[in-house]
Amino acid sequence: MSEPILLTPGPLTTSRATKEAMLIDWGSWDSAFNALTASVCRDLANIANAAESHVCVPLQGSGTFAVEAALGTLVPPGGKVLVPSNGAYCQRITRILGYLGREAVVLDHREDEPIDPGRIEHALIADAGITHVAQVHCETGTGMLNPLHDIAAVVAAQDRRLIIDAMSSFGVIPLDADFVQFEALVSASGKCLEGVPGMGFVIVRRGALAAANGNCHSLAMDLHDQWIYMQKTGQWRYTPPTHVVAALRSALDQYRAEGGQPARLARYSDNCATLVQGMRRMGFRSYLEDAVQAPIIVTFHAPVDPAYEFPEFYRRVRDKGFILYPGKLTTVETFRVGCIGAIDSTQMQRAVDAIVDVLRDMGVAIGEAQSAPDAGM
Ligand SMILES: *Cc1c(COP(=O)(O)O)cnc(C)c1O
Repeated sequence: MSEPILLTPGPLTTSRATKEAMLIDWGSWDSAFNALTASVCRDLANIANAAESHVCVPLQGSGTFAVEAALGTLVPPGGKVLVPSNGAYCQRITRILGYLGREAVVLDHREDEPIDPGRIEHALIADAGITHVAQVHCETGTGMLNPLHDIAAVVAAQDRRLIIDAMSSFGVIPLDADFVQFEALVSASGKCLEGVPGMGFVIVRRGALAAANGNCHSLAMDLHDQWIYMQKTGQWRYTPPTHVVAALRSALDQYRAEGGQPARLARYSDNCATLVQGMRRMGFRSYLEDAVQAPIIVTFHAPVDPAYEFPEFYRRVRDKGFILYPGKLTTVETFRVGCIGAIDSTQMQRAVDAIVDVLRDMGVAIGEAQSAPDAGM
């Protein structure tokens, strides 16, 4: 069986070297594995230029586990969180806060509209009880890039604490702790660092983590406890995802060899441009305006042709070796195509070609006229 190329928001296509890094079984007590964990955490903090001011705490599980752990550990029970919201992952933060019993104030935006720092400023001035702002950087539900620098400046000026869900932007979109003040930043192994899924990590300001003792509702999610134990022993609390850590070590080596963040941004931007240009040539329209589109994942309006239906389209494109992703919007029929993972524009062009072939086979009209004039905008 030839492996499909994943054009999804994660898990992603990984390189052979990353997969091969998982062929060794590591003992969780072994000093070699502890050194591996320490080196991975050091590199992760360095990507955000945060090794002095912050520490990197890894956590077993998917990205959402780490988001929940960051909120549960850093927001004290009496805290109140502003959630500027323009998509599904922002809404997930609000849901998590509900489970945690932490008060949330949602600042709703349209899904095709970037978060407005001015509205955050007003909300913070209006409510002195808000202690934290939880912001998704790239809203993967649509592909929107939120203006993090301006948001962080407003939050810092109002003397509140910023928790960033940088899950799908970390390592790609520049983020430097010298220029973006943040209390914590959350991402995971299986996104743009091109590791395999299985561990999240939180890059958290040293003082904030030290002060978070006793906040967390959950033992397994307590980042303070994880950190204290790791400092004492060099080990993870509870069984670590050893193969995932080893794969991430290899993925980080490849990241550095490729040229780090600028190189990854360039490759993904190239993938994104190849995709969007190819789809536009077929008459597809992207959901977001180019100015706010992150080169991470692109939402396209579905064709309005009666011959089109997503499950059949998905199946046929998969049979040609590419895995697409359904849309996450409730009001408009869309699908998403990821630009991330160990692929380049050659593979992306092949994906576009496969989509052309599939639509022809399905009898869906291709060309300027096939997409709706203005559905849902
Ligand atoms: C992928 C992602 C997450 C985490 O999702 P998991 O399925 O738990 O890994 C959280 N936020 C954003 C913005 C994401 O892209």
